[in-house]
Formats: sequence, C-alpha cells, structure tokens
Amino acid sequence: MSLNDSWMQRDLAVLWHPCTQMKDHEQLPLIPIRRGEGVWLEDFDGKRYLDAVSSWWVNVFGHANPRINQRIKDQVDQLEHVMLAGFSHQPVVELSERLVALTPAGLERVFYTDNGSTGIEVALKMSFHYWRNSGRPEKQRFVTLSNSYHGETVAAMSVGDVALFTDTYKPLLLDTFKVPSPDCYLRPEGMGWEEHSRAMFAYMERTLAEYHREIAAVIVEPLIQGAGGMRMYHPVYLKLLREACDRYEVHLIHDEIAVGFGRTGTMFACEQAGITPDFLCLSKALTGGYLPMAAVLTTDRLYQAFYDDYSTLRAFLHSHTYTGNPLACAAALATLDIFAEDNVIEANKALAARMASATAHLAEHPQVAEVRQTGMALAIEMVQDKASRTPYPWQERRGLKVYQHALERGALLRPLGSVVYFLPPYCITGEQIDFLAEVASEGIDIATRETVSVAVPAGRYPGFRDPG
Ligand SMILES: *Cc1c(COP(=O)(O)O)cnc(C)c1O
Repeated sequence: MSLNDSWMQRDLAVLWHPCTQMKDHEQLPLIPIRRGEGVWLEDFDGKRYLDAVSSWWVNVFGHANPRINQRIKDQVDQLEHVMLAGFSHQPVVELSERLVALTPAGLERVFYTDNGSTGIEVALKMSFHYWRNSGRPEKQRFVTLSNSYHGETVAAMSVGDVALFTDTYKPLLLDTFKVPSPDCYLRPEGMGWEEHSRAMFAYMERTLAEYHREIAAVIVEPLIQGAGGMRMYHPVYLKLLREACDRYEVHLIHDEIAVGFGRTGTMFACEQAGITPDFLCLSKALTGGYLPMAAVLTTDRLYQAFYDDYSTLRAFLHSHTYTGNPLACAAALATLDIFAEDNVIEANKALAARMASATAHLAEHPQVAEVRQTGMALAIEMVQDKASRTPYPWQERRGLKVYQHALERGALLRPLGSVVYFLPPYCITGEQIDFLAEVASEGIDIATRETVSVAVPAGRYPGFRDPG
C-alpha cells in the first residue's frame, strides 16, 4: 500500500472533513500532504500540486515561507499565549497599530477573534449593541445581498445567501432584508459593469428608504462575492452604499475576509471606492495563511458608545478564549512586512495581467459564458448553453471533473460548482500561471465534453466550495 493510501485510511477511520459528503471518498481519493514549499504542496508519495486556490484563499506568500516561519519561531520562544482580558503583549499592540495605520482613515479600534465567521458575529453584535447603547433599540435588522457568503456560524449564515449552506438551517436564522446583488455576470447584454452596478443600487436605496428605522447595518462582500461563485461588481456600488448608509443612519459592514490583503488589486477593496466602512472584517490572508485569526476594525464613534462606567452595562462582553494569540499576531506582522518590503501590490499587477492573457482564449470556448477578473482573482464560468447562459444542473458536478483532472496534472484547482477560478499565492510565477491556464483549459474541455446522465430533481443549489 502506498503511503498516501495508508494515511488516507487512517484519516477516514476517524475524521469528519469540512464541507464534504464523506461518502464521496469511497471514490474520490483524499490527499494527505506531507510538506509544502512556496506554491507547492507535496503528498506522501512525492507528488506535487500547485496550490492555485491558496488553500481556501489564505496563503498569500507560499507554504513554509522562511520569513514568516522565523517570526513564529522567535515568538514561540518568547510567549506562546496569554489571555487578552486584563493582559496585553507586544505582537498584539504592534499588529493593531499597523492595521489602524494601513486601513482607511477613521478605523481606529481593533477587536480580535479566532476566525472569519466569529469576526462577522462580532460586527453584527457590535452594530446591534451600538444602537441599543445609543437609545435606538428598534434598529435591530440587517440587510444583505443575494448570493452573499459571510461564514458558517448561525448569525453569519443568517446574513448569507448561498442556499446550499443555509437552506437546511432556515428555522434557526435571523430574519434579514435581502437585496438583489449588483453581480455583473447578470448584467443585460451590452451594459458595462459600472452602469449595471449603479442601476442595481436602486433596490438597496428602496430598502433603506423604507426600513432604515429598523435597520442596524448593511453587510457586503466588497467587489467579489467569493463563495457565491466569484461573482464581481464595480466599486461605484460601494460608494453609493456608503452615501446611503450615512443618509439613513445605518452601519456599513465590509466583509473583506476573502478580499482583503491585495486580492482585488488594492490592499483593501474599500480603497477602490474611496470609502471607510463602519466595520472592516479581516481574516484569511491576515496571518499569511498560517494561523486562524480575525480582526474587526471600527471607528472611535462606535467605540465611544460602549465606553462608560461598568455599572451602566454598556460594555461589549464578547470574548473568545484565544483572542489576540501572539503566534498568530507574529505571523500577521511578518506578512505585513513582506507586503511592505517587497512592494507586493505593485508587483501583483504583472501577475494579474499574466492571468488575464493566459486565460483570454477561454472566453471563446463554447461552454464558457464568461472569464472575469478583479485583481488577483480570476473566474471562468462553465455553462450548458452559452447564448442563454443556462447553467449546468448542479447535480452533474462538472467542476469536480476539472478538479480531478487538475490533480492528475499536479494542480489544486477546486471549482465552486461550475466556476473554475484562480486565487493563487502572490509568489506564483508567470510560467506557473501559464501552466494553471493550460490545466484549466484541458479540464474544462474534459468536463464539458461529456454527457452526464443524472436524475435532476428540482433545486436551486449553485454548488459551493464542494468540488462538484
Ligand atoms: C471564508 C469567509 C468567511 C468565514 O471565515 P471562516 O474563517 O471560514 O469562518 C466569511 N466571509 C467571507 C467573505 C469568507 O470568504
């Protein structure tokens, strides 16, 4: 038995994997990884895979990055962890100072949690609590966009709209206002991104105008709706939303968990709209893909509404045990150093252009409706019928074919339903981008050539994270 097989068997005897129908592994091999280096992951039989999706969008400077490794090693000899209530430490102070300096003016306070979903919970709770503390307890509800994703905990699911992940739990969820997304894949033919995003704002305006008295906040994934299939829109929408939120006295929550740290071409997506949200949620690439941590940045005005004598019970008493973990902070500090020292945002422009040119031919593919890109994220939408943009039934799991082909060829490409995408680490080379484009093209040919016969019951699941 190969080493891969033996680790797979031991794994499948005891583990329950995330976002997985475990029965799939009766056919689909699990890939145990022994080591990583740069863009490469290596399994126990020595086969290498180019990590085209940054291991679920977290890894920006490669696996086993020497600079991040060293910082963590230094930190672990100094202080591995201390509780953050009543105590503090050097990496968390330095990281907070750097995040405040790096993010748009007005974001002055940093609150930490251990993952993206709990970062969203914090933003939602703080917004709700702010209005209570400010004598407006009727402002309790949240506005979200269709096809949005904000994480897996119950309140985070409530503000999400990817049916595959939320439909089952509907009875548990908060009642939110859902507004049609400015998603430019859905724009009428001949219309530009800006015009479409602007036009779609009418729905948001109408909702805010009618219900602002009961609305605490609007939450959005700026510029890219990631888990919803890498759907994209124009920054003008964020600008209009900021103006409307000010006008109607509603908080604006930017979930930049996936898009923060350079993914959209700027350090943060909100920079492209020239705005400051009331809450900025960061995670994923925050620690360079090393350790789980999230940061919620907010304004002094928000902070002051909680600042009072203890007995007024206005404090934000939310806590997670590992808040502000020093090792995670050290990884984040090393990550920020690399951004600054290597002038990464500027250097990425050439890589983004290479991603565009390497995949341009796919726009002509008879089964590709669109190749779209925002900065260092590029997505290819496979469809059953190009003219009408009829999607493949999700049950056919076309993306899974691309996934399997890529593994054979030595690449980790994990489509979202029928959307093949690249979200590579920024240490990728031009040649490696060309290789990915070649593998994706072959995979799309194979996946779209076959007739797949599955019984297709009614359903609207677009397919998410799942490789098929
Ligand atoms: C991944 C993600 C989350 C959830 O983060 P977790 O760390 O997986 O809990 C929230 N919002 C967006 C936009 C994400 O991509």
